[in-house]
Amino acid sequence: MTEPVTTTRPNLLDFDAAGLASFFVAHGQPAYRATQLIKWVHQQGVLDLDLMTNFGRGLRELLRETGEFRLPEIISAQESADGTLKWLLRVDNGNAIETVFIPEMDRGTLCVSSQVGCALNCSFCATARQGFSRNLSTGEIIGQVWVAARYLGQHPKTQRRITNVVMMGMGEPLMNFDAVVPAMRLMMEDNAYNLGRKRVTLSTAGHVPGIDRLREECPVALAVSLHAPNDELRNELVPLNRTYPIAELLDACRRYVSNNPHDQITFEYVMLDGVNDTPAHARQLARVLRGIPSKMNLIPFNPVVGAHYRRSTPEAIDAFRRELAKAGLLTITRKTRGEDIDAACGQLVGRVAAKAARHRAAQGSLDV
Ligand code: SAH
Repeated sequence: MTEPVTTTRPNLLDFDAAGLASFFVAHGQPAYRATQLIKWVHQQGVLDLDLMTNFGRGLRELLRETGEFRLPEIISAQESADGTLKWLLRVDNGNAIETVFIPEMDRGTLCVSSQVGCALNCSFCATARQGFSRNLSTGEIIGQVWVAARYLGQHPKTQRRITNVVMMGMGEPLMNFDAVVPAMRLMMEDNAYNLGRKRVTLSTAGHVPGIDRLREECPVALAVSLHAPNDELRNELVPLNRTYPIAELLDACRRYVSNNPHDQITFEYVMLDGVNDTPAHARQLARVLRGIPSKMNLIPFNPVVGAHYRRSTPEAIDAFRRELAKAGLLTITRKTRGEDIDAACGQLVGRVAAKAARHRAAQGSLDV
């Protein structure tokens, strides 16, 4: 058996500005070449070395021999009736991921994946059902932004721009810290995507050591998937809670915002009918969050194959919201977007085989 030919040249998309500067210096080049390359690649969208007019022939040769650009490849792009776009992207022979763009009046939010699958096994989430395959590299994470930005630039409705990125796609970003942080640095880098610190949001199921490390190394906006006001219930919904219970998680949240008086934590709370959605749950929630600068995002549950939950009724969601408002918590109910193309929160699954099977089933040919 012959092994498939694998390339060992580094992917130049794996480097943030500092990493790329070291790469150039290691090859006897001045560090400022890093800025130039980042501008070509991430600002202009140019990957063809021959178009990089401020690079001489020798430098282009050097880059060709020592590195390459490897991007996720679009398998399919779907557009929802509400304008939400979802891409299925191939990252290697066996694996694919999903990336979602959500256009709104005053902004365009890109929802980016950090892992293929997820290891956390939250009981209401579709990504959990496919298990965990592997971490994404920095190049595969920032590659989603690159691909989406190019696609949107060529889209007929060209005003669509990425103004915000949320690490809320597939995976737990804090369990892939070393790849996620350089990618977020590129999102914020002036010469790349130039998004402000508050326009990049990392969402976590509650990985406490990761939250503390993020505060030190890359304090972007933080969202926490809380979903329950007490440990008994949260242990069921978010098994990671058995390792980092609510009190420890909320302490980490307090530390996270302590550096900057204007920062606040966004708490996500999926509304599950009869499970976590009563006014008593809301009051308990308001009590545990007291003193933490925060804003609540209620997410109506999106149906997931194999999960036995139902979405809370609009009345229950409204009563829950009012209870939180009474306690002074700024609360919004997240509008469900892209549900018709399975692009809504918790509906992302990247397996190509599963997709194909589902597609065939939807076409009516069940002989798979
Ligand atoms: N692992 C990280 C990043 C994923 S973000 C985290 O847990 O925060 C995806 C968000 O969608 C999370 O808040 C998640 O709890 C929520 N979610 C998962 N399944 C859902 C579903 N079926 N309906 C609505 N929201 C869901």
